[in-house]
Amino acid sequence: MKRILVTGAKGQIGSELTVALREKYGEENVVAADIQKPDAAFEESGPFRVLDVLIPEAIQCAIKDFEIDTIFHLAAILSANGEKRPEFCWRTNMGGTMNILELSVKNNIEKVILPSSMAVWGKGVERENTPQESILKPTSMYGITKVAGELLCDYYYSKFDLDCRGLRYPGIISYETLPGGGTTDYAVEIFYEAIKKKHYNCFLTEDTMLPMMYMPDCLNATISLAEANIGNLTYHGDFNVAAFSFTPKQLAEAIKKYIPDFTIEYNPDYRQEIADSWPRTIDDSAARKEWGWKPQYDIDSMTKDMIEKLSAKL
Ligand code: NAD
Repeated sequence: MKRILVTGAKGQIGSELTVALREKYGEENVVAADIQKPDAAFEESGPFRVLDVLIPEAIQCAIKDFEIDTIFHLAAILSANGEKRPEFCWRTNMGGTMNILELSVKNNIEKVILPSSMAVWGKGVERENTPQESILKPTSMYGITKVAGELLCDYYYSKFDLDCRGLRYPGIISYETLPGGGTTDYAVEIFYEAIKKKHYNCFLTEDTMLPMMYMPDCLNATISLAEANIGNLTYHGDFNVAAFSFTPKQLAEAIKKYIPDFTIEYNPDYRQEIADSWPRTIDDSAARKEWGWKPQYDIDSMTKDMIEKLSAKL
């Protein structure tokens, strides 16, 4: 990993992953790319390329111009936005992934990291301690694209010897960049509203338990998998990863320890159905065994840090 391209670099995860990779591999060696133009601060922090992953020529130019050998492909349409525009979600997620995989083979790219999601699960899955090997019958278009992405990852590994790796992120909680239209977005919005208004109107029911992860653990998981010795990996595109699970009610209780007059109401919308098809807890023993995955944060340490950092920011 000497010259890295991050697609979707302006997104919730990409914006922080780019910074973490630049700290580790050098500012000039990590090229941020997104369909959206960068703001001034982002543009000054290292190379940036405005690029649509649906245009293969644009990806090819970036690979050649910056002599890229590793790609973190994060550009995607997420679950809640994907349900509003399913055809667009399919076109972006599958078209982008196929372009990245094809051009990686053509350009002898060393390694591709292709994040997946807990949205791969759906009907018939064991929702407690969901195993690595499990039924994948998603009910959202986003989930369908993520299952196909995992299968493509493994296909390009076995057919074209492309070192392609992926992990099934749970809901990611962070304070730098707002989430991009997923079903777990409530777990970020709630902190903004708690600090600003001391009240939150939650779009899921109080007892909807979902797996979540704090951003520092997400960055650590992504970079650890990318750096893992390939000889230790029996899985490739579909590692389960987990940190902690909670319900909106449990998160509200954790927030009340720091903001005692915080209140919450529950008005579930179309996202409830998506959440109800996902696991409550996840078994990530394969990731722990094969590349040493271990989360650092639990719900209390995450809540404390989120409130401190977000209060300072707002
Ligand atoms: P996000 O929505 O915050 O960011 C996605 C970025 O992709 C945006 O900046 C957007 O401008 C860009 N993009 C969209 N279409 C593009 C195109 N055609 N060309 C180039 N860029 C384009 O998403 P995120 O939360 O940062 O997610 C990153 C990856 O992690 C995705 O693959 C997502 O499926 C996965 N994931 C995220 C979460 C989460 O909770 N955030 C959970 C599970 C999986």
